[in-house]
Parts: sequence; C-alpha cells; structure tokens
Amino acid sequence: MAEQFKAMIVEKQPDKTFTRTIGNRAISELQEGPLLIKVQYSSLNYKDALSATGNPGVTRNFPHTPGIDAAGEVVEDTSGTFKTGDQVVVTGWDLGMNTAGGYGEYIRIPAEWAIALPAGLTLRDSMILGTAGFTAGLSVHALAERVAPEAGEILVTGATGGVGSVAVAILAKAGYQVVAVTGKSDQAEFLKSLGAHEVISREILMENADRPMMKERWAGAVDVVGGEMLAAVLKSTRYGGTVTCCGLVGSPELPVNVFPFILRGVSLLGIDSVQCPVLQRLAVWSKLAGAWKVDLEALVTEISVENLEDYIQAILKGGLRGRILVKL
Ligand code: NDP
Repeated sequence: MAEQFKAMIVEKQPDKTFTRTIGNRAISELQEGPLLIKVQYSSLNYKDALSATGNPGVTRNFPHTPGIDAAGEVVEDTSGTFKTGDQVVVTGWDLGMNTAGGYGEYIRIPAEWAIALPAGLTLRDSMILGTAGFTAGLSVHALAERVAPEAGEILVTGATGGVGSVAVAILAKAGYQVVAVTGKSDQAEFLKSLGAHEVISREILMENADRPMMKERWAGAVDVVGGEMLAAVLKSTRYGGTVTCCGLVGSPELPVNVFPFILRGVSLLGIDSVQCPVLQRLAVWSKLAGAWKVDLEALVTEISVENLEDYIQAILKGGLRGRILVKL
C-alpha cells in the first residue's frame, strides 16, 4: 500500500481565498477510523463545489480534500464489518465535508458509512448515480408511496442537473408521465431521451406565480430548486398531491402561503441523503440497482481529478448537464 496518494487539496489562504491543487497526501494524515478504502470513482455534486470553494456551511477545516461520494475496494477494516477486497459505496455522512473525501485515492471512515456495492451495479455505475442519483431515488421512493403513476403528471425541476436528470429517468422507468422544467432551452431533446414526455421552460412554470394559488396541474413533483420555484410548484399541485424538496439552487427561502396545504391537502416531503438511515439506504440502492436501473451513459461525463476545476465553476452556475463521474 502506498504511503502517499494523489488528492485534490483545498487550502485557505491568508487573504481568505481558497486554492485547489492536485498534490500528495499521506495515509497517516487521514482521520482515524476502522475502514480504509482505495477509491476508484467519485462524482461531482453541487455540495462538492461548495466545499471546494470554501463554503463554511459545508467545510470548516482546511487543508481539505472534498468528494462526498466514493466507491472502491476495502484495504482494511478493523471493525470486522468488511473484508479486504470487498467493493463498497459511500455517500453522505461527513465524507468530503470535514472528513477527507473521494477526490483522493484513499479514504478512512467509520464502517457504518459504507454499504456493500449493490448487486447489479459496478463501482462505476454506483458513482454515475452518486449522491445526486441516490437523492433522486429517495425522492421517487417517497413520492411513489403516495402518488400512483396513473394519478397524473409529475414535474421535475432543475431537470438537466444531477438529481433532476436521474429523477426524470427513474420516474419514466417506473411508469410516470414526467414533465421536465429547465432553464436550458437547447436541452429538450436530451430530457426527452431520458423519458420526459414534455419539457417546459422556467418562465412557463412561473406564469401567474405571483397569485395566491395557481391552476392545478401536477399530481406530484420532485423539486431541487427551492425558493419561488418551489412555491409555484406547490401552488400548482393538484388536490392531494405530493411534492418532494431536497435542494436550494434557487434559494433556501420558501415564500409560500398555507393555501396549497389547507385548501388542496398538498404534502411537502423533505428529502435528506446525508444522514439517511441504513435500512432506507439499502432499500433505495436496491431499487436503483434493480427495478429502477436505467442506462445513464447518455448523461455521464467522465473526468479525472485534474480536470475538476472547470466543472466546479460550471456547477456553481447551474451550467452542467447530467452527472460528472470522477475517475481516481
Ligand atoms: P446541479 O447543479 O447538477 O443541478 C441543479 C439544476 O438546477 C441546474 O442544472 C439547473 O437545471 C437548475 N438551476 C440552477 N440554478 C437555478 C436557479 N437559480 N433557478 C432555477 N433552477 C436552477 O445540482 P445537483 O442536482 O447536484 O443538486 C441539486 C440541489 O439538490 C442542490 O441544492 C443540492 O445541494 C441539493 N441536494 C440535496 C441533497 C439532500 O440530501 N437533500 C442531496 C443532493 C443534492 P436546469 O438548467 O435544467 O433548470
């Protein structure tokens, strides 16, 4: 086993700016923990870009190696949960936040953070999904408990992004009629190829959004945007419908009145992938590897850690399409 390994290193400079370089770290520098993993793949999520650029809501301790996702092989596990050579997947918990993450060739973590690679997926498949795909799975799982495919149209916001694009694909595979809302007018064909039956612009969705209530349309929705867009989604959800909320790329505020809830019985469900309990993790990963397994090659861009910089800047501007897979 190498003593030194390649990693992205984010450092806080005296002028309070943050620099990102690819350099060497020592295995002895990693946090304590029983499970040492040789990482083969990671991915880029919006939160990784926040960590890599020094957002204090995500990462406080520098130098730091981001990467909230990692898939690879067990080198050692002194807890006895896994054996050397087992293939494992880690998403969320503190990985890549204040624990050195998947943008390094090794991670050391508590054994409870890892799950065995689900049967039916390769390590590469698991990281094409990553936290974004898992969050899409959690959202569809929550929605499907309350809204049947025949209930009507399901709206997905931020549809070309990581969570949105996987949500479009798995909702379509699960038999739902999906309407994708996007700010990228040239990506309608891409979204239809994933399974959307209709693609609308953000402006169409937001028509009459200043009214207390809007015309009922959606049987359900998967929202990643928050802010005024989530408020408009709630105001245009049909009687008894369900909306999931996982993100804040638009805004963390939710400027909405109570009418959708008290006049139409609409439900708003919060989705968290970070501390999601293990049994629920396993249930959703097994769906992603089985009934909801979709061919995601059309939405993946594979890069190395050396190429991350441009993609970090692009995801912060909402400018990426699909999922960025990082090969270590
Ligand atoms: P991406 O950047 O890949 O996707 C976000 C998409 O949202 C963009 O591609 C864009 O899609 C759209 N968008 C961006 N900015 C705006 C805006 N100002 N108004 C409206 N739409 C916008 O991010 P991810 O998919 O990785 O993450 C999405 C959100 O979900 C983030 O806030 C992230 O933090 C959160 N998240 C939460 C998790 C949890 O556990 N709760 C887990 C994973 C993610 P388009 O151009 O098609 O409209």
